[in-house]
Amino acid sequence: MVDYVIAPPPVASVPVHGGGRFPVRRIFCVGRNYAEHAREMGADPDRELPFFFMKPSDSLVTANADMPYPTETKSLHHEMELVVAIGTGGADIAEADALKHVWGYAAGLDMTRRDLQNEAKKAGRPWDMGKGFDHSAPIGMIVPASHFPDPTRGKLELRVNGAVRQVSDLSKLIWSVAETIAYLSKLVRLAPGDLIFTGTPEGVAAVVRGDVLEGVVEGVGTVKTVIV
Ligand code: MN
Repeated sequence: MVDYVIAPPPVASVPVHGGGRFPVRRIFCVGRNYAEHAREMGADPDRELPFFFMKPSDSLVTANADMPYPTETKSLHHEMELVVAIGTGGADIAEADALKHVWGYAAGLDMTRRDLQNEAKKAGRPWDMGKGFDHSAPIGMIVPASHFPDPTRGKLELRVNGAVRQVSDLSKLIWSVAETIAYLSKLVRLAPGDLIFTGTPEGVAAVVRGDVLEGVVEGVGTVKTVIV
């Protein structure tokens, strides 16, 4: 028994399609990984290596639970993304071996306080409070990688109140899932339980209380939440 002086925090986890839960360690997110989204954010997609930011593991919203509208923002944006769940850790992973480290995949939403993110960008400050706030990471069930053997293609779509807001395909990722894992594993040693939000395509926009967000990654699954 470890002599903790307060109760240890609970382990965040995501339900798995077919039963059980995937325990979550860290959440990495890729910035600007679809060319059209990079352009709509005012960046040049041809000029940069992938870059990463993080969300806390307890920002996950699972099982189609509601997402409370966050404090201190007037511009809550949706970003529909494929999420990769790492099952086997490693550093300096070769691109050719990268998919062997994947336990499964899910559909997820990188919810963003766009106004705070934009202020941080202008001031050269970190994005944490724009990206890593409470309830900022709704996620659907994780499907085992054997159910989705080829993450280089597959339609992504997000509907808000039934209307299509974002639609793209994993084939348009600037950095593929394998390339992203390989590159990230040079920066940090990946560990079992890590999630990677792989970036969003164009069409990001604001949502308000009462909006129903329903996303799908073809072959992977869905994510659903209501902003309350
Ligand atoms: Mn994102």
